[in-house]
Amino acid sequence: MIQSNRPPIFGMNCTQCGDLLIAPVWSEYEDERHILNLWSCTNCGYQFETEALLPSAKAVSDAATIKAFFPSLLV
Ligand SMILES: [Zn+2]
Repeated sequence: MIQSNRPPIFGMNCTQCGDLLIAPVWSEYEDERHILNLWSCTNCGYQFETEALLPSAKAVSDAATIKAFFPSLLV
């Protein structure tokens, strides 16, 4: 089995044959943070869906909290 240790920045590997799929054939926003992508493999014809989660404002503020918290740990 051939596995890439460097996943593509954008794209998916077919879950059936492993062929690289550059872009989803169809995308739908479930809400402001969830994107549903539909992939169709040109190699084997398999279709599958993935869900992408966008970073939220809360995640950004959490990162800022961690940054502010770390210096006190190092003392
Ligand atoms: Zn495939």
